[in-house]
Amino acid sequence: MSYIDEMLAFNKQFVKNKLYKSYNTTKFPNKKIAVLSCMDTRLSELIPAALNFKNGDVKIIKNAGAVVSHPFGSVMRSLMIAVYSLGVEDILVIGHHDCGMQGMKASKIIGKMAERNIKKDKLDFIRQCGVDVEKWLTGFDSAHDSVRETVNIIRSHPLIPSDVRVHGFMIDPSTGKLDKI
Ligand SMILES: [Zn+2]
Repeated sequence: MSYIDEMLAFNKQFVKNKLYKSYNTTKFPNKKIAVLSCMDTRLSELIPAALNFKNGDVKIIKNAGAVVSHPFGSVMRSLMIAVYSLGVEDILVIGHHDCGMQGMKASKIIGKMAERNIKKDKLDFIRQCGVDVEKWLTGFDSAHDSVRETVNIIRSHPLIPSDVRVHGFMIDPSTGKLDKI
């Protein structure tokens, strides 16, 4: 049985046994908090457990590295919705130690693309369309500095109201210890 089949079988039982009942809540975050964090699997359950976030408490936006890579991309749009439609008053950017985006090299990913039969002319075409592929696929030197930079991007965004508080943190992916930046 594949993981997908197992998942579907589990889901059937989950719904049948009404296990969803303890998760029922509204779309409005009880704690008026939005979190931008890394997609690292070590954080999936660790962040809610370590910070006492229950279902319905916070909006969680995740990507590789907990970054805002474009001021008018999907992360900022999600934060706009969180602030203007869902009542968020605090935004938490949570980076972590040992992040895969730290030191990530574009050349390495492009090399792996070639192994998976992505032809060079496709990359050339994307570059001709004005995408800086190397920049897009490059990580950061320091997760700590990246959080600080992301906090600044959000804080100084022209469409984020000045009464919204933006905070930066680093979390330890082993212990869940949170440090303010
Ligand atoms: Zn990470």
